Amino acid sequence: MTALAFTRTTGDRLPAAEREAILADPGFGNSFTDHMVSIAWTAEDGWHDAQVLPYGPLQVDPASSVLHYGQEIFEGLKAYRHPDGSIATFRAEANARRLNTSAVRLALPELPVEHFLAAVRELLTIDADWVPSGADQSLYLRPFMIADESFLGVRAAQRARFLIIASPAGAYFTGGVKPVSIWLSRDLARAGRGGTGAAKCGGNYASSLLPTRIAAANGCAQVLFCDSATEDTIDELGGMNLFLVRSDGTLLTPRINGNILDGITRSSLIQLAKDRGHAVEERDITVTEWREGVADGTIVEAFACGTAAVITPIQRLIGEDGLSIDFGDGAPGDLTMSLREELTGIQFGTRPDPHGWLQTLAPVEAAGAAR
Ligand SMILES: *Cc1c(COP(=O)(O)O)cnc(C)c1O
Repeated sequence: MTALAFTRTTGDRLPAAEREAILADPGFGNSFTDHMVSIAWTAEDGWHDAQVLPYGPLQVDPASSVLHYGQEIFEGLKAYRHPDGSIATFRAEANARRLNTSAVRLALPELPVEHFLAAVRELLTIDADWVPSGADQSLYLRPFMIADESFLGVRAAQRARFLIIASPAGAYFTGGVKPVSIWLSRDLARAGRGGTGAAKCGGNYASSLLPTRIAAANGCAQVLFCDSATEDTIDELGGMNLFLVRSDGTLLTPRINGNILDGITRSSLIQLAKDRGHAVEERDITVTEWREGVADGTIVEAFACGTAAVITPIQRLIGEDGLSIDFGDGAPGDLTMSLREELTGIQFGTRPDPHGWLQTLAPVEAAGAAR
């Protein structure tokens, strides 16, 4: 694979004082760094025109296929500031590979893993000052790919664009990790058998928004989807995978069944739990099993996981027909919290990285310098 040559165009940078003010309290997804990366693709020429350019609006033709048929995929990963000042990413090549799995399903072009990783490095190098150093803070990277051929016919586009933008992220839980209530959506599904549930595509999120609004109206932070065929087998949350913990220390999580997203946080937690000697069962799990297990004391913890929040403890599952499964005391589970601490410790460079999951960026000499 020949390396792509990136053209670097620096623009106005936000004054350091304003950047520091944002980094002091970034929230999530509110602010964006000074630059972005763009790589163009055409069926004729393949991937070309790799650029680092000032962050800003895209010129998109109103007939672009992405605007009409939703031919779009994305990824999410974080860059962490380590205690020695270096910047590290976590399993970025897994995101690169998953982008390609999504690309195949959405009939978009696959991006060589090396191009993905080079694009991440380019953006982190030029916007290194945007990687915050506060507790639990990180720089969230959002790679995505859109079909941008101007054509209203329905077929896979012959033109696409891959981009990465970046947004500083604060601690997900301010004032301590707090268990949440989640809403079981039986009637409305995010994905169905043979659909795009296993791809990270915008369409899956679009279909989760109404059920999420219903969840919020019922006092819930998140929505849990069932397999649309059985209405009892659990799939996942709108944007996070699910785990249950048994009293004997066994972890249960829905198997990768073609409907759910193969989360990198999920697979990392499975590995860390196995390293500690816990059994992990990846299989079909039902709401009935969850309800009965909590009632008879064999299921003692539940949590959701994903890159943005890492691990979110679940306090209650509620739904229509009076469904209410409640762990009771309102404190996050012990295994939930210790897995969370271990994984974040690896990511933030305060614990050893036995599986070689981190990629550390070479120290950045002149961040923001144009060449
Ligand atoms: C991104 C995502 C996840 C979590 O994946 P991570 O790689 O752990 O961030 C889970 N479910 C859905 C639907 C997702 O889009």
